[in-house]
Amino acid sequence: MADHYRSHRPDCEGQPLYILPQPVNDPPSMPSLADYSLEELSALFVQWGHLPIHAKRLLRAYYDQAGRPALDQVSIAHRLRDRAVAEIPLLATRVVTRSVSADGTLKLLLACPDGAQVESVLMPDYRPDRSAGCLSTQAGCAMACDFCATGVQGFTRNLTTGDIIEQYLALKAESAAVGRILRTIVLMGMGEPLLNLANVTKAIRLLAGDHTAHLGWRQITLSTVGLLPQLQQFVDLKLNVQLALSLHAPDDQLRAQLVPPARRFAIADLLALAQLHQENTGRTTVIQYCLLASVNDSPTQALALAQLLAGRRMHVNLLTYNPTGRPYQSSPPKAIDAFLGTLRSNGIVAHLRRSRGQDIAAACGQLRTIEG
Ligand code: SF4
Repeated sequence: MADHYRSHRPDCEGQPLYILPQPVNDPPSMPSLADYSLEELSALFVQWGHLPIHAKRLLRAYYDQAGRPALDQVSIAHRLRDRAVAEIPLLATRVVTRSVSADGTLKLLLACPDGAQVESVLMPDYRPDRSAGCLSTQAGCAMACDFCATGVQGFTRNLTTGDIIEQYLALKAESAAVGRILRTIVLMGMGEPLLNLANVTKAIRLLAGDHTAHLGWRQITLSTVGLLPQLQQFVDLKLNVQLALSLHAPDDQLRAQLVPPARRFAIADLLALAQLHQENTGRTTVIQYCLLASVNDSPTQALALAQLLAGRRMHVNLLTYNPTGRPYQSSPPKAIDAFLGTLRSNGIVAHLRRSRGQDIAAACGQLRTIEG
């Protein structure tokens, strides 16, 4: 399959072919309650000689109380409760640092039992009672996007389902503490979710599921740079979540410079799969485009992007570049307005996404767990 896609990229001849990272085995770590689906916990409780209804009660309390349920108030058999407490930790990760931005954005650094660290971000919604969470799916990232601090940091490991869910629980607790409900989740933090598809898919089901976080499918967005074979697998799953495709360039050649996996996968093939997901689910695909001064922000490039998306009903989210120590500058306001105007005048629904949490390095592209 990879060779087939390689042959589509004559414009990238001479550039080293991007080597897709091989699947990584998750480290053997002690699973916490956040790793369990209702079916798995029910099966375990039945194996221990108890009714599966106890699993439903325990998970409901666990998610409702952000991973720290008042166990003496959960209606399960005492013997079962004692055994569960002894054998399944409620949480395996711990919050190492907590940073709060002047704009109200909060960033958490969490440490996993094996020492891997990840960052998660909580953003206040424009509605005063809601917030949105951004979760990481890998510790570090192997994609090496040229403008991204996580990409510079490199890859440590895939996160387990529990690692991902525990980020959600930590953010939920923080959100509740300021009187907001954590209502939407984007899998857009550190890492490429499609390279950790099994754990990410399970986490999505737990986030959406009635007996766990019960957010609902429509509140979840998966963001990817687009790896064709994995994107095909994801589309085949027909999960009713929103797909956000990080394009960042209107042509394959420029994209290959900014996003190394693009040396292998053509924009046209990615858009065709995104379109299929849109048709399968009825969810509009979001095209993410980080504006970099004098790199991808010209009127000609705006027109090329509009032409690429013509007739697709996809929405464009324009992002401004947040400083990451890479040799890029944010596009000036005039160029941003002109880019937005060109897209809109060509019939594309487009918005400029406000940068949040830049002062605590919590904005898009800034997450990294290395100090300094
Ligand atoms: S932008 Fe996303 S996919 Fe690219 S290096 Fe950063 S975290 Fe990885």
